[in-house]
Amino acid sequence: MQRAKDWPGDKSAPDGLQLVVNFLNTVDHEAGTDALASPATLATWLEQQGVFSPATELSESDRRRALAARAGLWAVAADHSTAYRNQGGDRDAIAQLDTLAATAVTTMRFDADGTGRLAATAKDFDQVLGHLFALVVFAQRAGHWSRVKVCANSACRRAFWDASNNRGGKWCAVRRCGNKLKARTARSAMRRWR
Ligand SMILES: [Zn+2]
Repeated sequence: MQRAKDWPGDKSAPDGLQLVVNFLNTVDHEAGTDALASPATLATWLEQQGVFSPATELSESDRRRALAARAGLWAVAADHSTAYRNQGGDRDAIAQLDTLAATAVTTMRFDADGTGRLAATAKDFDQVLGHLFALVVFAQRAGHWSRVKVCANSACRRAFWDASNNRGGKWCAVRRCGNKLKARTARSAMRRWR
């Protein structure tokens, strides 16, 4: 979230899917921080995203399910990314998604004009999971879930929405990770030729 402000050029995922991208980025590998460090920090993060009722407390079991959901969705996003594809991926983490989905609850509403939408505010973690998973399923049906990827900079590993026309995006932000890696590759190429 903080990062998104630092990088105004980054493109956001459409149709609410940015919430899933943000969820994958609750861990910051470079800063060594994790919004899923405790049930309280998870609740705060969900409130900040506007999807969770502040009146509800989360348990350690909710936090563990959040970690499992993040690991599973992250493994799928890594499969979408050329830098990590065909590396065997975390099949166990992906398999956990089905177990988690079995108790997830999706609440929908219809506006007066007949427009359907996911209920804005989840009251417990089953609803939070239902909300996240519904966004993933909608994105799969719309054909753009594969645009959610993981940054090719292995130190960063942030999830991002690949807005490129050819779906060939590799980095969370070209200015941040792309240029860094290009410079590193150029330096090692120079060394080879010396
Ligand atoms: Zn990155």
